[in-house]
Amino acid sequence: MTSSASDKKGRKNYRKVLTPLQKARAPWLASTLGTWNVAADSYALEQFLFVGPRGGGDYLRVGIFAGVHGDEDAGVLAAVRFLEELAREPELARGYELYVYPLCNPSGYEDGTRHSRSGRDLNREFWQGSREPEVQILERQIRTLRFDGLISLHADNESRGLYAFALGAQVTQYVVEPALLAAEKVLPRNCEPTIDHFTARNGLIRKGYPGMLCAAPEARPRPFEIVFETPHEAELEAQIAANLVFLRQALEQYLQLQAVGQDL
Ligand SMILES: [Zn+2]
Repeated sequence: MTSSASDKKGRKNYRKVLTPLQKARAPWLASTLGTWNVAADSYALEQFLFVGPRGGGDYLRVGIFAGVHGDEDAGVLAAVRFLEELAREPELARGYELYVYPLCNPSGYEDGTRHSRSGRDLNREFWQGSREPEVQILERQIRTLRFDGLISLHADNESRGLYAFALGAQVTQYVVEPALLAAEKVLPRNCEPTIDHFTARNGLIRKGYPGMLCAAPEARPRPFEIVFETPHEAELEAQIAANLVFLRQALEQYLQLQAVGQDL
């Protein structure tokens, strides 16, 4: 386990990993969406909204979710770094309202566990009447904000390459493929026919599973929904870089598709 944000006893502190984002006059709007306690420890779910320069039409609203599994640091660090990148280069977000959730499972992050401290895999709890505070808070946001797209960042310890789940709108595959192609310059793609027990093609899985973080069941039209997975065993910096390339490319691709008004 990496120790990017550990206290003296070696235990991680979820607040520390978000410290770079807690600065005065930041170009994003930080909001604490909810707080809860687990025994003596208190946790919060933080949202960072970055609004890019205006594009040609209405703003496209995209949610970026990381750290749903507490032991997958790459996505968390990539989400933090992506916001810092946007601050330096707002053009990357032209036409977008980006809602970034760098740490969706803060107790699991501190414990270095996939599950939250309640013992739940939060990515199996969505839209099933979950009582987990992290899930309830995120469900409320997802339902209210009605995203045009959702991107979740994960790491898989059984995969030796990059891959993605492409769900929701038909357009999703046209967003994912170029993004995978770009990320492949950093880490190899997993081209095996079966990944995570799913049938896969060129690192793409076109199915999800019950309880995963996704748009509300009633959402119409369906947004594009992407789960991007990096190989957990790869070097952390390479995984972060792959996430950053993937995010930039996916956003650029979706904006282009909107601009040409393709009804795919
Ligand atoms: Zn995961």
